[in-house]
Amino acid sequence: MLNVLAKEGDEMEFDVVVIGAGPAGLSAAIYLARANLKVLVLDNPKEGSLKKAEIIENYFGIESIKGKDLIEIGRKQAEKFGAVIKDEPAISIKPSAMGKGYIVETAEGEYRAKGLILATGAKRIKPRIKNLEKFEGRGVSYCVVCDAFFFKDKKVGIVGSKDYAAKETIELLSYTKDITLFTNGDKIEISEHLFKKLEENNIKIVETPIKELFGEEKLEGLILENGEKIELDGLFIAVGTGGAEDFARMLGIIVENGLIKVDKNQRTNAPLVYACGDCASEDKQVAIAVGDGARAALNLIKELKGIKKFADYH
Ligand SMILES: Cc1cc2nc3c(=O)[nH]c(=O)nc-3n(C[C@H](O)[C@H](O)[C@H](O)COP(=O)(O)OP(=O)(O)OC[C@H]3O[C@@H](n4cnc5c(N)ncnc54)[C@H](O)[C@@H]3O)c2cc1C
Repeated sequence: MLNVLAKEGDEMEFDVVVIGAGPAGLSAAIYLARANLKVLVLDNPKEGSLKKAEIIENYFGIESIKGKDLIEIGRKQAEKFGAVIKDEPAISIKPSAMGKGYIVETAEGEYRAKGLILATGAKRIKPRIKNLEKFEGRGVSYCVVCDAFFFKDKKVGIVGSKDYAAKETIELLSYTKDITLFTNGDKIEISEHLFKKLEENNIKIVETPIKELFGEEKLEGLILENGEKIELDGLFIAVGTGGAEDFARMLGIIVENGLIKVDKNQRTNAPLVYACGDCASEDKQVAIAVGDGARAALNLIKELKGIKKFADYH
């Protein structure tokens, strides 16, 4: 099912796909494109720390600038050097079946890349549901690809209302058919073709907000705001779009204290996958994100061009 919705003529194969067009991802894209690599940058126009920053006054060489204006300059600069930027959030990443490179899926289609840079910023949207933390790892999971196995033929819920939640639900269907999608009071914003798949597979959709989770040792179910009690063996959280942590889990990348683990070259433990910016750094600053993005790109360029061979993966 490759390139399902791609328009004819759309390019789907790239040397590198960068996930996230914040300062980290755009900085990486500028270096990659200037090194003559084919680069695609995917972004979620509704998210991003820098887009929210009213005024930046501590970035070298610029006295004062609105965060969104700085992003706009960076986007134009990356495009000028040939990077393709699409406002299409990534919803899943997997290693290619051919054993080389990766496939990044969005609601519009699938993109292939030899290497990846994760630059999605820091976020883990947790819905405000009573007892959520209590059952994390005991019925509540944030990763279908990691934990679905434990819920084979069980009764499972997914919390989310967007494409990412739909994609996780479809992935879960290989393990169980008894799935309910809980939008937790949010409006459904799922692309037509994904929504059709949910319908075809009789996925129940509940729009009433969730009041709380219940159980003794492990999760046993949830109670809706209207008092209805629904028994569940497991509950997956897939709110918003996928973040770096979600993608890391899909690729078996180590995450420590909410940060993607990278070495001094910004490499993760997955071949040709780098991470930079807030998703991989304790110091959450534009200057750091830009620097780490550049370092990630420079090292990935060396790897892809065979200039440098890194012996081991940490
Ligand atoms: C209100 C505020 C004020 C700040 N003020 C300052 C300041 O004055 N000075 C300073 O140095 N720093 C400041 N910061 C911090 C700074 O904005 C961040 O450190 C910096 O933006 C991190 O860059 P990044 O590229 O890692 O992440 P982000 O800027 O968060 O960009 C990440 C990008 O990834 C995209 N993305 C996420 N998920 C996906 C997906 N699934 N698919 C595709 N794209 C995705 C997002 O849409 C976003 O565009 C501020 C932050 C905030 C929130």
